[in-house]
Amino acid sequence: MSTKVAVVTGANKGIGFAIVRGLCKRFEGAVYLTSRNVERGAAAVAALEREGLRPRYHQLDITDTHSLETFRDYIKKNYDGIDILVNNAGIAFGRNATDPVAIQAEQTLHVNYFALVTTCDILFPVLKNGARVVNISSSYAHLSNIPSLALRDKLKDEKLTVAGLSALMQQYVDAAKQGTQAAEWGNSSLVVAKVGVTALSNIHQRMYMDRDLKINSVHPGYVDTDMSSHNGPMTIDEGAVAPLYVALDAPDTLRGQLVWFNKDIVSWD
Ligand code: NDP
Repeated sequence: MSTKVAVVTGANKGIGFAIVRGLCKRFEGAVYLTSRNVERGAAAVAALEREGLRPRYHQLDITDTHSLETFRDYIKKNYDGIDILVNNAGIAFGRNATDPVAIQAEQTLHVNYFALVTTCDILFPVLKNGARVVNISSSYAHLSNIPSLALRDKLKDEKLTVAGLSALMQQYVDAAKQGTQAAEWGNSSLVVAKVGVTALSNIHQRMYMDRDLKINSVHPGYVDTDMSSHNGPMTIDEGAVAPLYVALDAPDTLRGQLVWFNKDIVSWD
């Protein structure tokens, strides 16, 4: 039987690191800890090895097409494909960041949304049929966080395509550059990006039914990481519980859902 493969992006620290730890303990196959920075990745692998775990490693920067293609080709050469893909990598500006909203909008959407689209475009062809994709989203992703009812309708329209969603996300970035985003989109770039993550998960689920993919988004909880400036009350292992549930334990019928940290399925709107 061919080796099973699980891949976690942005896994050198935080929730992604804990997801790799959990997968190493329970997944029967090769678990890939990936990171954009090789040294930080090596240190994370060494830390897990000290716990007696055996993650594999590959460099992966989700904003770098060449890095994504190199990893895809590596998987193609060495395995039949990927069984579990956890799209965890992300960035956030701190609450006290002084960067102009235009910069925050462009960079937040670039990494959390547009790079996720590129990641899926490049890696989905090497997913095995029946694979599970876990997109790490957020409580911010809830549609009620978008003030405009017309926008909410567009975002949840079952006919919305990835190109259509990306055009909406770009409209937000453009509006932020003009300073006109607040009324329709609100004032948080992370809200818009994570709404985009969950909307993308739902569109992809509809697109890939024929390949039997299970694609869900997960709010991991408010977790003690660098991203939350260590204000979150949950440990990284607690933050990994719902992603691991969706990756390993959820029934095959769980598709196109937003799953909360306590494993509840939450209505998106
Ligand atoms: P951390 O800041 O601890 O970890 C983020 C990880 O993403 C790091 O490994 C970082 O790498 C990596 N990363 C950033 N940019 C890239 C890139 N271009 N390519 C590859 N990896 C990249 O954050 P968390 O663990 O808290 O966040 C993980 C996920 O959980 C994110 O998607 C976040 O939005 C989500 N989340 C977190 C919450 C929380 O309370 N912490 C709440 C809700 C959602 P590097 O070390 O090189 O910067």
